[in-house]
Amino acid sequence: MELKNKRVLVVGLGKSGLAAARFLKERGATVTVSDARPATLIKELPSLLEQGFAVETGSHGLLTFRRQDLIVVSPGVPMSTPELMQVKALGMRVIGEMELGSQYLQGEMIAITGSNGKTTTTTLMGEILNAAGRPTLVGGNIGTPVTALVAESTPDSWSVLEVSSFQLETIESFKPRIAMVLNITPDHLDRHGSFEAYAAAKARITENQTVEDFLILNAENKAAQMVAAKTSAKIYWFSPRRPIKQGAFVHGESVLFLAKEGGVAEPVMPVAEIPLAGSHNVENVLAAVCAARLAGIDSETIRAAVASFKAVEHRLEFVRELGGVRYYNDSKATNVDATEKAIAAFPGGIHLILGGKDKDSDYATLEPLLCERVKTVITIGSAAEKIERQLAGIAKIESAETLARAVAKAQEIAVAGDTVLLAPACASFDQFENYEHRGRVFKELVASLQ
Ligand code: ADP
Repeated sequence: MELKNKRVLVVGLGKSGLAAARFLKERGATVTVSDARPATLIKELPSLLEQGFAVETGSHGLLTFRRQDLIVVSPGVPMSTPELMQVKALGMRVIGEMELGSQYLQGEMIAITGSNGKTTTTTLMGEILNAAGRPTLVGGNIGTPVTALVAESTPDSWSVLEVSSFQLETIESFKPRIAMVLNITPDHLDRHGSFEAYAAAKARITENQTVEDFLILNAENKAAQMVAAKTSAKIYWFSPRRPIKQGAFVHGESVLFLAKEGGVAEPVMPVAEIPLAGSHNVENVLAAVCAARLAGIDSETIRAAVASFKAVEHRLEFVRELGGVRYYNDSKATNVDATEKAIAAFPGGIHLILGGKDKDSDYATLEPLLCERVKTVITIGSAAEKIERQLAGIAKIESAETLARAVAKAQEIAVAGDTVLLAPACASFDQFENYEHRGRVFKELVASLQ
């Protein structure tokens, strides 16, 4: 795509938008940036103006949008934004930052999507490639925007990209060599409108793949299985429960990889060497094992890299043991499925801290696990009332309102052998800056308990 002297508008000045704006300018485009937030909230504003960007803040102007050759949208900006809907209807080209960056990225791409497990699997995949001595880049939704990876990429690079449904909504030609759909369960329904629309966005990861490419799917997740019907790529499956035709699975005590239907499965590693809690993490490992073998990495290297992997912060992270009570921080459990997986990682005796900003979720689906393993649900945040209504009669509930009170309450009622688990099933924005902030506050509160 030729960018020189093109008029390009970048919508949304988050991390990705800023990286895209710089990337476009370096390639000779005339760049305007537009953010609906007031100028006072955009701390990069003076430096953007100094660098010669035209900047529009406070609202989006339709005229500004219509004057462009190309519009690049940040993942934080909904495609339902009226100005975007209007220019799309006029046939103007609207793409996301990841699409833009991926068009320039050299080397091979491994793209990882799913409702849960993206960051864990992306990080692990990066560590396996590094252990194998491949020149590795890790980015996308996990942190470094794709446009910011381009300069470092070479024809030998392996880029591991964490990809969200919002990024997939704005692709055109994005074509990973290896794509993974870890799972599709309800999340972000407030923004996608329906589960079908959300699942369809995720399925777009394989839209441009051909028979030369690979698609790795979760054999135990219905919505992820549906993606199989939409691909031209070679399909590999993973399952923690049963042998599958082609892909990675657990059989007995071992992780196995089967390269070709009808072939012989090769052992990769003992399941007991996986150092992460919860069966969901076995799924993440299987997906990464499958991709690593497809990338030509030998089993011994994979085994060593997996065995030395540490849980990513805020993902079922062990915090402390006090008076025989173990405290875990799973602040990243921002949807019901992740919370379900967190509960399932412990045999029982759980005091579960639930709540935050609701995402149109159905908490009643937690019923079987709550009855089986959870002693108390301690609610916090603006979703508390809804949670209490939906779980009335299902779980013993304590309202705490704040995280500080929830931790104090948990300490008061937990006995030796119990687990206190922050896995809130909600977004954090009602009381915290983000889930990292929530997780850090939790860890500080737990550290100060006596
Ligand atoms: P993502 O980047 O997709 O949000 P993370 O690796 O950050 O994924 O994990 C998000 C949350 O989901 C955490 O609470 C984590 O414990 C949980 N989780 C991780 N992997 C899975 C999985 N395969 N299925 C369900 N939940 C998972």
